[in-house]
Amino acid sequence: MSEAEELLALLVDHLQDGVWLLDASDASIIEVSQSGALQAGSHPGTLLGTNFCSLIEPEISSEAWQLLLSQIPATGSHTVSVGLRSEIGFVQLVDLTLTRDYACEPVQARVLAITRSQPLATLPSAQAPQVETLLDATLEALAEGVAILDHLGRVERANTAFLELVDLQQSLVLDHSVFDPPWIWQSLQGDFLEIEGTPPVMALRTGEPQRLDHVQLRGNGLNRVLGELISVEVSCEPLLGADQSLRGAVLVLSDLTALLQSVGRREQIEATDQLTSLRSRHHITAQVDAAVRAAERNSTSSDDSRVGVLHVDLDDFRSVNDTFGTAFGDEVLIAVADRIRDLTERHIEIGRVGVDEFLVVITGNDASLSFDTRLRRLAEELQRRIEQPLVVEGLELRLTASVGISRYPANARDGATLVRAADTALAASRREGRHQVRFFESSLDKRGRTGLALDRDLRLAAAQRNLQVYYQPIIDLQSGAVSGAEALVRWNHPEHGPIPPSIFIPDAEATGAISAISDMVVTTVAEDLARWNEQNLLNAGSRIAINISATEFEQRGFVQRLAATLDNVGVLPSQLELEITETLLMRDVEVTAQRLSDLHELGFLVSLDDFGTGYSSLSHLHMLPLHTLKVDRCFVSELGDGRSETITRAILNLAQGLGIHTVGEGVETEEQRRFLIDGGCDSVQGFFYAPPLPRLAFEKFMQSHKPVAASATSTRSAL
Ligand code: C2E
Ligand code: CA
Ligand code: CA
Repeated sequence: MSEAEELLALLVDHLQDGVWLLDASDASIIEVSQSGALQAGSHPGTLLGTNFCSLIEPEISSEAWQLLLSQIPATGSHTVSVGLRSEIGFVQLVDLTLTRDYACEPVQARVLAITRSQPLATLPSAQAPQVETLLDATLEALAEGVAILDHLGRVERANTAFLELVDLQQSLVLDHSVFDPPWIWQSLQGDFLEIEGTPPVMALRTGEPQRLDHVQLRGNGLNRVLGELISVEVSCEPLLGADQSLRGAVLVLSDLTALLQSVGRREQIEATDQLTSLRSRHHITAQVDAAVRAAERNSTSSDDSRVGVLHVDLDDFRSVNDTFGTAFGDEVLIAVADRIRDLTERHIEIGRVGVDEFLVVITGNDASLSFDTRLRRLAEELQRRIEQPLVVEGLELRLTASVGISRYPANARDGATLVRAADTALAASRREGRHQVRFFESSLDKRGRTGLALDRDLRLAAAQRNLQVYYQPIIDLQSGAVSGAEALVRWNHPEHGPIPPSIFIPDAEATGAISAISDMVVTTVAEDLARWNEQNLLNAGSRIAINISATEFEQRGFVQRLAATLDNVGVLPSQLELEITETLLMRDVEVTAQRLSDLHELGFLVSLDDFGTGYSSLSHLHMLPLHTLKVDRCFVSELGDGRSETITRAILNLAQGLGIHTVGEGVETEEQRRFLIDGGCDSVQGFFYAPPLPRLAFEKFMQSHKPVAASATSTRSAL
């Protein structure tokens, strides 16, 4: 190479613009400068010989390429604005200038292309695009998963390694906030981490670097098996500006799988669960594996080797933790473990696999049916032992437990699948309520597998407002008039059909999708209220109740957001009643009291939902600005039973004494309605009057239940 050529090469490589030499016939890349390759997020060596058109977003056909070439004037160049795609899918806008390569013979054979990054509006300097691409290239070169967050915690960029570790497509990660991430953080024990405690959130909140040595991330079925967990170390470093203000953060995930496997460290540390001294999660799953392998070996001989796995979950343990604190919760777990520990003397292995979840493994070689009977008896025995009244720190508790069962060889022929099957069966038993035992059936599998896909669908549905809000009328018992309604969300899934909120709301709370749902419900209700006000459809003083989940309630800015949404459509806060649960109330009484008084001051009404089912402390009730108590359906449905009647009467008396309005829930019969009227209950809701109704049906219901004087006013047909 001559000196001039060398200089030129150097110059070309230092130009910010990309320089490309292309074969005119098929757009293949003959040469490309360093900067051109960087713009495409790649290296010159990788790009040579590949098709330049495939880097254009959207990709252009060979016909379009020839058309483009035909627009180059005889002398001079032709410039178009196109997207240039990097290997990992980033697209940046560039000005593409095409000129004939006059140095070449014939002139038509080659094309010189210059790609100039268009300055991004948000970037401070003209150099920024170049720096951007460089940054992308650097990120790509790292083995760790790296995401760059802005000061609000939104993912601005993420390298391929990061996307692989969270097992999500880029489009599902970018712009999502670490305060409501599309991936799920799990602890080593398998329970979901509170978002507030995760390193990125803590780093952004405190401005200090944060690290967690061992966190698990779930596979989402993209590159890994759905639900498969991998271990990562998570660290997050805040990025401070020159003025020390928080600009964002760098979130780094390091894959620990290889490390853990090679050192076998995990095995040593974690053979026993620290808290309960039962087997650790790792150890017990390894035992399932070993049992299945042994059974497989034996299956060649005459006897039928069987392995059963029971996944035991304490019902609603979260509310014990939330109400009394985790230290108390830990005591409860130890007490529960003590009750089942001696089963191990019967050659049954027990491990703790989640905060309040246990895995029980049993082997045998009886006939299939009698083995199943043995498994069911064991499940019932576990339930019985757990459900004995428990006294911890002077408090008497009654727990219940749900059990999912799977067995080898009927449900799976390897340990991991067998454990997953028990998990699926447990999920099914939870859906049926508390205190259930459920065996794995293959029809359950499909539902279980779709779990995470459902989560994604759910966020999407909320964002696109594909969830529906139904309204269940609430009737004033004195006047018989409709005094409002409760808004209840419904999800009609395109594939799975209608999914009741009792199934997807708890999941949504765990994954954080609840915020999107809640926003959608509040907006819909506010808009409907505005419409009804205009149509004069509601009776004076009517209110629409919405359900507020704890995660939502505790979010900063929740009250302000709510007020702003109503303000947008000109609806008064007093038309909205917020239903919160006892558990929420007791989580942190002081914070809750403050939040409630904020709401109260703004004019919102608050009601206490499902009253009588949680562990609320009556002594707090009179200090809180509560407008309504809702007597839980479980008491109403059991009216006729002496105990339920006594409780219901006591609740009604209590509320009357405190001057709190009462609503009886789930009224289905005339007898129930009568009992509540006699007890002095103010209003009721239930199938006796109407189920939750879609908006149009609710509007019709309102029209047909208008008090006589008002029914003359003409209302515009909603159809
Ligand atoms: P909830 O707040 O206790 O709502 C009352 C539930 O009782 C509703 O179930 C309603 O359809 C049902 N119900 C009403 N009357 C009767 C009756 O006479 N008999 C019987 N058997 N059931 C009756 P749904 O709609 O399935 O909602 C279940 C739960 O999901 C709700 O319980 C609430 O906790 C939650 N939920 C519903 N919508 C939302 C929402 O928008 N946000 C939040 N955070 N939670 C919601
Ligand atoms: Ca409710
Ligand atoms: Ca309720």
